[in-house]
Amino acid sequence: MIIRIKDQRELDHMRASADLVGRTLGAVARVLEPGVTTAALDRVAERFVRAHDAEPAFKGYSISGLKPFPGTLCVSVNDVVVHGIPGGYALQEGDVVSIDCGVRLNGYYGDSAYTFGLGAIGTQARALCQATYEALHLGIKAAQPGNRVGDIGHAVQRRCAGFGVVRELAGHGIGTRLHEEPQVPNVGVPGRGKRLRSGVTICIEPMINLGTHRVATSADGWTVRTADGARSAHYEHMVAIGDGGPEILTTFDYIEDVVEPPFTATYG
Ligand code: MG
Ligand code: MG
Repeated sequence: MIIRIKDQRELDHMRASADLVGRTLGAVARVLEPGVTTAALDRVAERFVRAHDAEPAFKGYSISGLKPFPGTLCVSVNDVVVHGIPGGYALQEGDVVSIDCGVRLNGYYGDSAYTFGLGAIGTQARALCQATYEALHLGIKAAQPGNRVGDIGHAVQRRCAGFGVVRELAGHGIGTRLHEEPQVPNVGVPGRGKRLRSGVTICIEPMINLGTHRVATSADGWTVRTADGARSAHYEHMVAIGDGGPEILTTFDYIEDVVEPPFTATYG
């Protein structure tokens, strides 16, 4: 499979898609509080995306043999790592809530995720969120033209030593398809893997657990949980590799204008 290089026109489309994902997550952040159901968050996101002439990217997304994903968001609470299906669960004080959103606008995809803490989540979960958030930004810093995918994975893995770094799922290229080449694992060996060139667009998305790195998929075919029931965090940015270095296409600003990060940021 080939890694598609984007030209300036395509990058402009991707900046727009990325910005819309950020704004959608900001709209969701505004209504995030104990008592709200994950289905209600999903409705807010879907309405917002459609009001901006875009389509939800995850809704109807299907991988071989699975029934299509039903939501605009993946809402993954506590021990759910990713791909949580929005439903009747009402969020509670102390929940660690990862929200992943994808859109398609003018033929180009946007994809970003943020982990929220609902009130007091405890020092361990705060450390988990902080490590994951910092690992994302260290991974981005490693996404220099001429570097390789293994440099990103190594940077993420190194920051998350002591936590469980999920291996079964990875970041990915993005563009006119939600998932393109190359795969961007969260573990890696420096100097190994596909080369990052100017015009490559990827999603970097560490998925990090408080306990074991092992995960299990639920009977619904989508929901990925930690194998030991420990909590998990997930942050995701879309990045374009440029001649001068990585450009972060998505933004958490719309989120962090409304809610405090679930830790005291020291990096990012
Ligand atoms: Mg995502
Ligand atoms: Mg992604």
